Amino acid sequence: MPAPNSAAVPEEPMQFIHEWPASRVVFGPGRIAAVAAEVARHGDRVVVINDRVAGAPADRITAELGSSAVLRVPEVVQHVPAGTVAAAVSAVRSARAEVIVCVGGGSATGLAKGIARELALPVVAVPTTYAGSEMTSIWGLTENGLKTTGRAEIVRPRTVVYDPELTLGLPTAISLTSGINAIAHCVEALYAADSSPLGRLTAAEGIRSMSGALPVLLAEPRNLEARGLALRGAWLSGWALEVSSTGLHHKLCHVLGGLFDLPHSPLHTVLLPYVVTHLAPAAPDRTRLLLDSLGLPGSTIDAGGLIWDLHRKLGVPASLADIGLRMTDLDLAITRSVAALAGGPFPPRPASPGDLEHLLRTAVTGDRPVTG
Ligand code: NAD
Repeated sequence: MPAPNSAAVPEEPMQFIHEWPASRVVFGPGRIAAVAAEVARHGDRVVVINDRVAGAPADRITAELGSSAVLRVPEVVQHVPAGTVAAAVSAVRSARAEVIVCVGGGSATGLAKGIARELALPVVAVPTTYAGSEMTSIWGLTENGLKTTGRAEIVRPRTVVYDPELTLGLPTAISLTSGINAIAHCVEALYAADSSPLGRLTAAEGIRSMSGALPVLLAEPRNLEARGLALRGAWLSGWALEVSSTGLHHKLCHVLGGLFDLPHSPLHTVLLPYVVTHLAPAAPDRTRLLLDSLGLPGSTIDAGGLIWDLHRKLGVPASLADIGLRMTDLDLAITRSVAALAGGPFPPRPASPGDLEHLLRTAVTGDRPVTG
């Protein structure tokens, strides 16, 4: 028997459950033209939800739907407030809509999911950021300052139409942090205890795609090829997130984002190097895959620092202070994070109260993380 290719042999025991939920993806420049036909596969009466900045593509979709477009929700609010969902549910019910189309970033997708959860309607998503929510069954809702999330099959968009042309105007700063938000999904999928070999391949390819695109977008924000590569990365990252559990990174972002109303993708961007620094030593093989996918040579033990270096080259926010956390809030951030997360089963390495305090104290100043 020939010797196995050592690169193909996993270090860990080969034991997993793999489930690949169905989702139709239509991808490519100009694909906005396909939206009306995609919607028609699901029903006749359509509500079009859009972020205000996505007004033009939503107008076009509405025009192409003609009399099938029975309702327009032309504005969305970040973090999916429960009141916004309740008002939209009532309007959609009155309009007797059968299908939801959402055009915009994770906030627009989030509102569509909130309605789908209540009314069991199919969603067709047309994303304009790299949040990846369009590929997942994860919903989120904010009420009285508390964000609740869960998973429900019914909210996962049945069809996703990715058109890189719709992202040409996404400001560079948002493009970069949104892209790193997608990379963070992949990082969690790489480290997740329940990720399958196929889930990890998806995550690695998502990182490769996105990290290839971001330096080009920094230099040429309207480069359509790089926009396509980034959107491809967003697709894969959302899929990787869908097929594995979230871990320390997402849980920490969730606690801090909810508590201090910090902006979503910049928060993911700032925390990623610090979380990787904590996790990397516990899973060198997965960390190697992460660094290789990012195209970063160097030691796995310094993976978080290497990601921090990359972020400095991209010019994205470095510290929690940069994105609005006041030093006077640091103690509360630590107390709440410790209460919510300490000792949690966050593979590959649990986080003790001391670990969390160290992570947050470094992240608030933005210093290069060092493995302790
Ligand atoms: P967002 O939708 O709020 O968009 C960020 C900013 O980009 C907004 O100001 C928006 O107006 C602007 N924007 C969007 N598209 C644009 C375009 N093409 N051109 C110019 N500006 C544009 O934020 P997001 O980062 O896309 O998504 C974050 C939200 O999604 C959070 O609520 C987060 O919890 C959620 N999310 C959910 C999942 C999931 O699986 N459920 C995954 C990722 C994110």
